Amino acid sequence: MNIVSYPSPALKEAATEVDPKRDPDLKRLIATMAKAMYAAQGIGLAATQIGVLKRVMVYDLGEELVALCNPRIVACSSEKVLVEEGCLSVPGVDVPIERSASVTCEAEDISGNTIRIEADELLARVLQHEIDHLDGVLILDRATLEDRKAAIRRYNELIQSR
Ligand SMILES: [Zn+2]
Repeated sequence: MNIVSYPSPALKEAATEVDPKRDPDLKRLIATMAKAMYAAQGIGLAATQIGVLKRVMVYDLGEELVALCNPRIVACSSEKVLVEEGCLSVPGVDVPIERSASVTCEAEDISGNTIRIEADELLARVLQHEIDHLDGVLILDRATLEDRKAAIRRYNELIQSR
């Protein structure tokens, strides 16, 4: 399963909510996403990145694979942090992105149970990044105009040199 890369219009699409109790394909979707994420040595992946418009994301920060259905940020810190961020859909390019330092995320697990995650540091960033994907938003959309231009130039150079 290939990861969709910029500038595919598919990455601009917003995903729709899933019903974990009634979606027989979810288990297979999550397995496919995990496989694609690990193959690309990523730490998070949204379903939209493999062309599936369902609100599902996976992440693994080195502890265990976690799959979230319908993840949403229900609270976020007013403190923001600016960190260089990469994306499997914009490979080879890091862009400085300002995000909330900590967030509270609610989601359903694959059985439909509600889960609540208090996250800071890298996990807070991964959650905000993947939920952005589910809304059709990329790091390039979050960057300043100057950073965006530089990133796209660099990205196009990388593609041409491949
Ligand atoms: Zn990404």
